[in-house]
Amino acid sequence: MARRGENKPRPKKAGGLGREYIRGLDFLINDQTDKALEVFTRLVEVDQDTIETHLSLGALFRRRGEVDRALRVHQNLIARPNLPRPVHQRALLELARDYLAAGVLDRAEELFRELVEQNAYVVESLRRLIRIYEQQSDWEQAIEANRRLESVSSKHRGQQLHAIAHYHCELAEQKQRAGDSRGAKTSLKKSLHVYSDCARAAIALGDLAYNAGDYREANKYWQRVPEQMLELTPEVLPRLQQSFDSLNQAAAFYQWLAQQVGRYEGVAPYILLAEQAFRSGDKGAAEDWVQRYLEQAPDISGMGRLFSAVVSPATGATENGVRAKLQLALEDALGRMPAYRCNHCGFEARQLHWQCPSCHQWDTTLPLPHGPAGSHSH
Ligand SMILES: [Zn+2]
Repeated sequence: MARRGENKPRPKKAGGLGREYIRGLDFLINDQTDKALEVFTRLVEVDQDTIETHLSLGALFRRRGEVDRALRVHQNLIARPNLPRPVHQRALLELARDYLAAGVLDRAEELFRELVEQNAYVVESLRRLIRIYEQQSDWEQAIEANRRLESVSSKHRGQQLHAIAHYHCELAEQKQRAGDSRGAKTSLKKSLHVYSDCARAAIALGDLAYNAGDYREANKYWQRVPEQMLELTPEVLPRLQQSFDSLNQAAAFYQWLAQQVGRYEGVAPYILLAEQAFRSGDKGAAEDWVQRYLEQAPDISGMGRLFSAVVSPATGATENGVRAKLQLALEDALGRMPAYRCNHCGFEARQLHWQCPSCHQWDTTLPLPHGPAGSHSH
């Protein structure tokens, strides 16, 4: 305010406002909020310049976690008659942020929608609305808001399409839970239409086909997954093992796995290859796969998994006391390791999350290449 006074000399007014402002601050410091508000409200009536002060004050309260006070400041501002439209909209935005901070989502939603309708703070409002709809699992609305955001700001188009694809997957899960497999399938296809590399949709379409007895179709969808998102390879391996088995094509699975080894560096395909070789009586081939893994990616966690899945059953190690103890300790340690990590914020998880619970990014919480086996359910 002092600087403003220098640029635009208005001695009488500036002096009066300063005194009133200090009086208001005094009330605030002494926790006499109502009196403070009264003073600040008068300031707003006197001069529009003090609106900024009012807004900063409200934002300050909110940052300090005193949401009730922030709400009162902003509600008071909005209640002023003849408030210029931009100021009214700015106050609406602040009020909406207050409600969001207070966890009153329906009021926040209402205000952000109003702002979008008034064409003010559209990008922020839509972003906040999207988060609100995600929190409420209102996927139809989330799709709508994202589409709208896409039309006003193409800055993060790829990310938005990605999110929309996941919303369709979420809708599919809702429909599936309600027993509507047909509707679920439609939603999943929409997901792939929006974003053809949506591995989640391919996994789910494969699951639907498998449960309907269409193993060939399931196989087709699941085989797409490593091409869509290489990191998700371990998620589909147990599924593909089942579908190839159901089609009586164990040899074809073995061949397909051998191709994946050159692309995906994690331990999962090696374990299956060694197991398959061992089961078919080819001990030498099983040892070769173990050897190949140890040569290309000597990771302690992967080695442990390979040991407990392949080496110890093959050599009957469980009969040997010391090795059995070693194995138990190893399995215990492995069991406590995270299987998934978000490559955006580092969040670690024991199960697959399509949306990171911490940073809310989609498709960033991925299986660790040498970690415990992925979640698998039909
Ligand atoms: Zn994250």
